[in-house]
Amino acid sequence: MSTIPERPAKRARTVKTGHDLDSVDFETSEDVEVSPTFDHMALNENLLRGIYSYGFEKPSAIQQRSIRPIIKGRDVIAQAQSGTGKTAMFSIAMLQKFDPNIRETQALVLSPTRELAQQIQKVVLAIGDYMNVQCHACIGGTNTAEDMRKLDYGQHIVSGTPGRVTDMINRRSLRTRHIRMLILDEADEMLNLGFKEQIYDVYRHLPPNTQVVLVSATLPHEILEITSKFMTEPIRILVKRDELTLEGIKQFFVAVEREEWKFDTLCDLYDTLTITQAVIFCNTKRKVNWLTEKMREANFTVSSMHGDMEQKERDEIMKEFRAGDTRVLITTDVWARGIDVQQVSLVINYDLPNSRELYIHRIGRSGRFGRKGVAINFVKNDDIRILRDIEQYYSTQIDEMPMNVADLI
Ligand code: ADP
Repeated sequence: MSTIPERPAKRARTVKTGHDLDSVDFETSEDVEVSPTFDHMALNENLLRGIYSYGFEKPSAIQQRSIRPIIKGRDVIAQAQSGTGKTAMFSIAMLQKFDPNIRETQALVLSPTRELAQQIQKVVLAIGDYMNVQCHACIGGTNTAEDMRKLDYGQHIVSGTPGRVTDMINRRSLRTRHIRMLILDEADEMLNLGFKEQIYDVYRHLPPNTQVVLVSATLPHEILEITSKFMTEPIRILVKRDELTLEGIKQFFVAVEREEWKFDTLCDLYDTLTITQAVIFCNTKRKVNWLTEKMREANFTVSSMHGDMEQKERDEIMKEFRAGDTRVLITTDVWARGIDVQQVSLVINYDLPNSRELYIHRIGRSGRFGRKGVAINFVKNDDIRILRDIEQYYSTQIDEMPMNVADLI
């Protein structure tokens, strides 16, 4: 193993009155009201009951600021660090707004992965437990006829992935006439090249006055710029870039010099991985398969998941991991965004991610809602530059992994 060169001197922090997102146009809107408790939000009694039974006592910062404007019907751009309750934020707003007497879809949430769409459905159903809400996860890889049957039955809220949702709209099973709210979760990903056309396509099918809510931990400048195309005077609630890396998540690197040395490093860390639960990210599905095999050959217990697996198998792996029956999950960026498993306290970047945004999302799988988290990056010689770039971009600190890393978990 080699040591890593000294980190270059930090860029002088630009002094701006607003948020460090390259342009002051994207400051948090000034008139954002703050509701210090759920009781202050004028919520439906059964909804409030659902929130408290779910175990929430006090709204998080983003919930205090965003729930009311969404309920009031404003277009909202809500950015907050990962694990700070954004899913619950828009779930509560949707639940407050839907009319149980209209058995038609009134709110639509789009997310980039099937697992995330399913997770959102579960949160809506749990918080809405006393409200007779129908909420359906409309995702690829499941039986189309069954999807149509459920939609025909009438679903107040639909949480889906763009492909299947478009399909269901085209088949007229997902009727859009009553939709009043469109939520784009992981909005920067949804408005990226891969999804953008599909999103615009769905958007064209919605009634003209549909409220739009954009949610993500990362909202790069170029994404904020295109929002004017489909949003009307949005309220913006944004965090500074250097606040994106949460204090609760300690970040480290291990200098492995060469690719071949990553594997032994991971094996050495296995006991640390299993202290609670850990997620290991590789950049390709092939690498996930390869690493899983290799770990198993070496008699380590690991599970793995990626987008080429059958949905049934993906569901089974998620179920086991959520239940804590498996502790170490090797996966791709299909897992990088939004997935919430509170027991995950360690994230390993076996490969460094391909973008600065993905880095934030990946490490954010640990340290959920203020819990402790550790992220460990395996860096080869030529990765050091990338790591330093991430470090500078978020004004954060990524130190060499200490011997006692297990004590930090
Ligand atoms: P995000 O979407 O911002 O990544 P989530 O909505 O998934 O975050 O929330 C992260 C975790 O925090 C979840 O397990 C959720 O149940 C929990 N949580 C959210 N809001 C609250 C709250 N007000 N009080 C307690 N826990 C909360």
